[in-house]
Amino acid sequence: MERIVFSLMMIGLLTLSGCATSPMGRNQLIMMSDAEMNAMGNQAFLTLVQKTPVVKDPQANAYVDCVASALIREVGGQWQVAVFQDGDANAFALPGGKIGVNSGMLNVAANQDQLAAVISHEVSHVLAKHSNERMSQQSATKLGLGLIQAVASAKGYNSSAMMGALGLGAQYGILLPYSRVQESEADLMGLDLMAKAGFNPTESVNLWINMGKSSGGNQPAEFLSTHPSHDTRIQDLKNRMPQAMELSKKAHAAGKNPQCEDLARR
Ligand SMILES: [Zn+2]
Repeated sequence: MERIVFSLMMIGLLTLSGCATSPMGRNQLIMMSDAEMNAMGNQAFLTLVQKTPVVKDPQANAYVDCVASALIREVGGQWQVAVFQDGDANAFALPGGKIGVNSGMLNVAANQDQLAAVISHEVSHVLAKHSNERMSQQSATKLGLGLIQAVASAKGYNSSAMMGALGLGAQYGILLPYSRVQESEADLMGLDLMAKAGFNPTESVNLWINMGKSSGGNQPAEFLSTHPSHDTRIQDLKNRMPQAMELSKKAHAAGKNPQCEDLARR
C-alpha cells in the first residue's frame, strides 16, 4: 500500500515537475515553486537567528552590510543580512533573500573583495536555485518526500531535514553539501557578480588559498575541500578572470567602487 502511494506521489511529482535552465545554461530539474523555497528559506533563517547569537559590533555589521549591499544592488530584490557569532569560517544565502556570514569568516576573508567573493558565491547558489534542484533530485528519498509533503500539507517543517536541504545541515546532523557542478556554477556566477559590483575579482583566488590554509581539513560542509578541490576552483576562476576583469573595468567606469574596509577599521 505504501508503495502504491509512493508511486502515485512520484508520478504526481514528475508530472508537475519542470525542466529549467540554470543561469549558466545547464538543464535543471526544478520541482518546488519559488514561493515554497522562499518560505523554507525564511523559516530556516528565523531558526538560525533564534539559535545563534548575532554579532552586535556595529563596525563588523556595517562592513558586511556594505559588501552585501554592493552585490545586492546588482542582483535586485530585498535581502536581509546577519552576522553570526560563530568561529567556523562559513557563510550562506537562502531563498527568500537571506544572507548569513559567520564572524569566523571575517578572519579568513582578508579584505572586502574576498568577502565579496564569499557572499557572491552564496547568493549565486540562490539565484541558480540550487537548493530547489537538490531537493527535486532527492524527491525520491525519504528526506525529499518528507519536505515536499510538509510544504504541501502546510503542517509545518521538519526543521533538521529542511536545514539539511538548504545546505545548513552541519549542525543538524544532515550533511548535504552542494554538488560539485553546483559549486563550480556558484564560483563562476559569483566571480561575475563581484566584478559587476566593482570588487576586484582576482581576490576570489586568494580567498580559496586562504580557505585552504585556514581549515586544516576542518571546513564546514559548504566549503569542504572535496567539493571541487581548491586547486580546481582556482584554475576555473583563473580561466574566467579575463572576462571578469572586463566586467570590473566597466563597473569602475560606471562609478562602482566599494570602499567597505573604511567601515571595518577601528
Ligand atoms: Zn557553495
